[in-house]
Amino acid sequence: MSTLTVEAALARILADVVPGGSEEVALSQAYGRLLAEPVLAPLSLPPWANSAMDGFAVRAADLPGTLRVLETIAAGSVGRHVVEPGTASRIMTGAPVPAGADAIVMVEDTSSEGDRVAIAVGARLGQHIRREGADVQRGARAFEPGARLTPGAVGLLASLGLARVRVARRPRVAILSTGDEVVAPGLPLGPGQIYSSNNHALVGLVLAAGAEPVDCGNVGDDREALRAAFADAAARADLVVSTGGVSVGDFDHVKEVVGAIDFWRVAMKPGKPLAYGRLAGRPFFGLPGNPVSCMVNFLQFVRPVIRRTMGDPNPFLPVVHATLRSPLRRATGRVELLRVRLEREGGQLFAVPAGRHQGSGNVVGMAEGHGFALLDADTAEVSGTVRVQLFDREFDDAPDPAYGWGTVETSSDGCC
Ligand code: AMP
Ligand code: MG
Repeated sequence: MSTLTVEAALARILADVVPGGSEEVALSQAYGRLLAEPVLAPLSLPPWANSAMDGFAVRAADLPGTLRVLETIAAGSVGRHVVEPGTASRIMTGAPVPAGADAIVMVEDTSSEGDRVAIAVGARLGQHIRREGADVQRGARAFEPGARLTPGAVGLLASLGLARVRVARRPRVAILSTGDEVVAPGLPLGPGQIYSSNNHALVGLVLAAGAEPVDCGNVGDDREALRAAFADAAARADLVVSTGGVSVGDFDHVKEVVGAIDFWRVAMKPGKPLAYGRLAGRPFFGLPGNPVSCMVNFLQFVRPVIRRTMGDPNPFLPVVHATLRSPLRRATGRVELLRVRLEREGGQLFAVPAGRHQGSGNVVGMAEGHGFALLDADTAEVSGTVRVQLFDREFDDAPDPAYGWGTVETSSDGCC
């Protein structure tokens, strides 16, 4: 079994990635997806000059002064008159600026009487006019391939009039846990049995990675049953992830059953062997059974493959810097991924070890934590700033009145 650094293992795995294809979806299904091709703007934004205010469309050279009002232009209609010297048109926000006008005066700066409007202030050329193409020019590249469709991005696509977009297909990921001792939650536990956490944690991780989970349940440590379950899993997915059975125990049969795989000892903690190869032509990952090792290995190696398959230019977890609340001592030799909770205080980010234990089976740390503090292989005393790889982007929502907009009152009647 060869020993690899995390980077070397990742490089080997990523070198095998082939693009997973694309599909066209309606905009209502596009949120969270990655664009498969560039988007060229079919129109300018704004598509034509329009008013940014309720007020009057004027010629700036006429002001200050009293002007004859020609008409009222509502949003959704087009003015019929040219604004000649000495005239103005009443205009609403979003309505097209009429020919002849070169500025908008807001209604608060005017007083109307009959068909006249008195304006005591001057106007800058172009004031309160949203110019055609100020945001996006027709024909410009609005998006690059691989762009993540955030709510704002979906809004922009809609503004451009695009009802459908071509996005990366979401790979189907089969999840199969192995072990005579593991039982699905909801079933009674027999002697020596535990509930399978891995299936469910992996379903969440696959969804969070933007792919489609196919939970193939659990199979016992029996060669024939394993063979059948692996074949079934491969038939149902683009990529197969199993857990357990990759160690050197008497009942660890995965290697024998899958065949075309490498076993690597990745120099990281939590670690354990990682099996990687092909199963019926699909990428296959044999993750360790220990729940924390299982999630750590998924996040380090499987998630980047999923993201790369979908064309994500940056398939890795985001990293932030945080200050360790208290120094810690550790054994050197391997890089370590310490599960930490993040806390925001006075605009600074602090990291605290999550859960009471950092063992590879201690599931509380993954539930309470927000990220992995990445500790170097040869640093025994760790203090000060650490890099934290985020596996939970929600930590920003931790209630902290000093952060962002602070506390927002929500009405209890469910309105708005
Ligand atoms: P293994 O990799 O099969 O040697 O399993 C290592 C450890 O992980 C053992 O303590 C197993 O009981 C535990 N384990 C294996 N599969 C699961 C699972 N699906 N959920 C929770 N724990 C598991
Ligand atoms: Mg096992």
